[in-house]
Amino acid sequence: MTLAVGMRPPLDRLRALLANVADLAHAQQVLEWDSRVSMPRRGARARADASATLTRLGHDLLVSDEMAELLEELAPVEEQLGRDSVDGALIRLTRRGWERERRVPGDLAAEMTRVSNIAVAAWDEAKAASDFHSFVPHLERQLELKREYIACFPATDEPYDVLLDDYEEGMTTSRVTEVFDTLKRTLVPLVAEVGGRGRDDALLAGPFAIEGQKRACAKILDALGFAADGWRLDETPHPFATNPGLGDVRLTTAFSEQDLHSLFSTMHEFGHGVYEWGVDPAFARTPLHRGTSSAVHESQSRTWENLVGRSPGFWRWFYPQLQSIFPDALGDVGEDAFVSAINAVRPGLIRIDADEVTYGLHIILRFEIEQELLAGTLAIRDLPEVWNARVHDYLGVDVPDDAHGVLQDMHWAIGLVGYFPTYQLGNVMSVQIWRRAQDELGDLEEQFARGDFAPLREWLREHVYQSGSMYPPRELLLRVTGSDLDPQPYLDYLTTKFG
Ligand code: ZN
Repeated sequence: MTLAVGMRPPLDRLRALLANVADLAHAQQVLEWDSRVSMPRRGARARADASATLTRLGHDLLVSDEMAELLEELAPVEEQLGRDSVDGALIRLTRRGWERERRVPGDLAAEMTRVSNIAVAAWDEAKAASDFHSFVPHLERQLELKREYIACFPATDEPYDVLLDDYEEGMTTSRVTEVFDTLKRTLVPLVAEVGGRGRDDALLAGPFAIEGQKRACAKILDALGFAADGWRLDETPHPFATNPGLGDVRLTTAFSEQDLHSLFSTMHEFGHGVYEWGVDPAFARTPLHRGTSSAVHESQSRTWENLVGRSPGFWRWFYPQLQSIFPDALGDVGEDAFVSAINAVRPGLIRIDADEVTYGLHIILRFEIEQELLAGTLAIRDLPEVWNARVHDYLGVDVPDDAHGVLQDMHWAIGLVGYFPTYQLGNVMSVQIWRRAQDELGDLEEQFARGDFAPLREWLREHVYQSGSMYPPRELLLRVTGSDLDPQPYLDYLTTKFG
C-alpha cells in the first residue's frame, strides 16, 4: 500500500526532504570541483550565478514550512531515540542545520556563494601577479558579508564564535586561544632550538620528473586504499578533496620538479577522502554522510600525511621504490638520510609546505589576524605589512612578496574565516586518536614497513569514519580516545620526535 505524501511517517518525509537538499549539495560540489579543476577562467561569473542559485534552492528547502513542521513533530521522537540511534542523530543534526540556516536570509546565503566564486577567481589572478592591491575590494566584501552573517545570530562571547561553530560544533574562541597559548609556549622555543637541524637541501634537490611523481603517488594511493572505480586524482595548484556523493571521492594534488611535496599533499588529501569513503553508505543523501567537523577531518588528513607518511616504517617500505623511480636524484641518498631530510624543521613562508613543528605557528598567526580583521582593529590595507612582521616574529623569515605572504591561501577568498584554527585542532586530535590506535593495533611501523596499511585504515573506519556526523566532534573524540581535546599528547609527540 502506498501512502499519500502527507500520510507517510514524519521520519520518511524528513528523509525525502533531506535527500533533495543533499542532491543540490551534490550538484554544488561537482560545480565547485569543476571550477577548480577544469573550468576556463572566464567562466567564473556565470558559475558564480549558477552556484548561488543552487545555494538559494537548498536554503529554501531547509528553511521551508514543511521542514519546520517536521522538526516540531519529531521533537518527542528525537528525545526517545537518544544519542546512539541513527534516526535520533539525523533529527539532531537537521535541527542544528535548520536553526542556523533559518537565521540567515536566503539573499545573504546566495550572495555569499556568488561573492565566493568571484573572489576566488580574483584571488587567483592577484596571487599570480603578487598584487594584493587588486584583491583588497574582494576581501573587504567578504569581511562585510561575514559581519552581516554574524549579526544574524544571537550574541556570543566573541563574534568569531559564530564562525568557528560552523566548522567545529561547540568550539569557542576562548578554548582555541587557551589551546594555542599552550602550544605556543612549547613551539616557539622548539622552533628556535631545532629549526634548520637535519636540513640538507642538496639531498632533496631533484629534479624529480613529474611523470615519476605521478607513478609514485599512484603506488602509494594503491597501497593506502584508493579504489579505482570510486576515486580520482587530478592536478590543481591548491590541492583539495571532495566527495559529492556515494562512491565518488575526488582528490587533487600539485606537482613541482623541484621537490617531492606532491607525495605528502596526495597522502594528506587521501586522508580526507578515506574518511568520507568510510562513512556508513546507509547515510547517503543525509547530512550524516560526511565527516563530523573540519578539525576531525583534518586530524585524518594529517594522520595519513604525517603520522603515516613521514614515519620511518612507511619509508622502509616505499623508499626503495622511490629510488628506483628517481635513480639519478636519489640513488646515492641513503634511507635514513632521506627520512631525516623529509622531517627536517625548516621555518619557511608557505603553510602547506611547513614541517610538523612550524606548521602550528602558521595557523596561530592566521587565527590572530582573522580576529583583528573581523574586529576592525587591523585595516585591510595594512594587512601585508602586519603579516610580514608577524611571520618574521614567529618564524624568523622574511616575506619577499605577497604571493609568498598574505596571498598564499585561498581561504579568505572563499569566505572561510574561522576555518584555519581547525587545522591545528586537527593536528592535536590526530595524535590523541593515533595513541589509541597504537594501543590497540600494536607495532604500526612494522605493518607499514610491509606496506600493510589495512589494519590502521580499518580501525579508523570502525572507530572514526563509519559514524559520519552522528556524533558532534567533542563527543566523537571522547568515544574514541576517552578524553576531551588535549594538546599534551601532540606536544609530547613533537618534542619526542624533534626535541
Ligand atoms: Zn586538509
